[in-house]
Amino acid sequence: NDTITVDQLTDWLTRFRDLVTEQVSYLTELDSAIGDADHGSNMTRGMGAVVEKIHASPAGTVDELFKGAGMTLVTSVGGASGPLYGTFFLRIGTTAGPRTSLDAPGLAAALRAGLGGVVARGKAEAGDKTMFDVLSPALAAFDAAVDVSSDLSTAAHAAYFAAQTGRDATRALLARKGRASYLGERSIGHIDPGAASTALLFQALVETLGE
Ligand code: ADP
Ligand code: MG
Ligand code: MG
Repeated sequence: NDTITVDQLTDWLTRFRDLVTEQVSYLTELDSAIGDADHGSNMTRGMGAVVEKIHASPAGTVDELFKGAGMTLVTSVGGASGPLYGTFFLRIGTTAGPRTSLDAPGLAAALRAGLGGVVARGKAEAGDKTMFDVLSPALAAFDAAVDVSSDLSTAAHAAYFAAQTGRDATRALLARKGRASYLGERSIGHIDPGAASTALLFQALVETLGE
């Protein structure tokens, strides 16, 4: 598929809600090792509110969908992940604008703006052991795939593969941002919870787009 519609983007967010809900214990476990054990509940509550709101009043355009999702996350999640994912979605919305679908370069540009929002808010750099360490390589892989093919599913698969590698690589890192950074050396040896939930975001995109 060469384009993704507002309905499919809505399915993406819904599938992400389903995955964080299915994996709530795993996300909680990761955050109990190097944080305050609330990443699972933060993501489940936040994405639950997002999906509830979308279903109550379905979005007509990409910017409406993602601005709504971003605002809901910022207001419903107290932890760091609320404003970070919230800004990610808000920037996707403002960059995509009032369209009813996106092609592969359009989605790539929107996602990249989303990453820019995460960095503007959290100041994370590569290797800080955060969601950046999944988002950044995943979007690099997405962009590289889009350069050679207009097929969104191919790009999503490439992004998800890079996301899993990025997630697993956070295990060896020392946290330099967020709560986990308070642990210093003791943060080494655990996967970052936000990196794990961000990998689920790309899994959800793959599942939404299909083969
Ligand atoms: P809190 O740490 O406030 O309890 P969560 O547990 O929901 O919030 O989310 C923690 C995740 O947020 C971390 O695992 C990390 O991936 C991400 N994170 C924290 N601080 C930053 C930051 N400055 N930049 C990017 N991501 C961050
Ligand atoms: Mg936490
Ligand atoms: Mg917290």
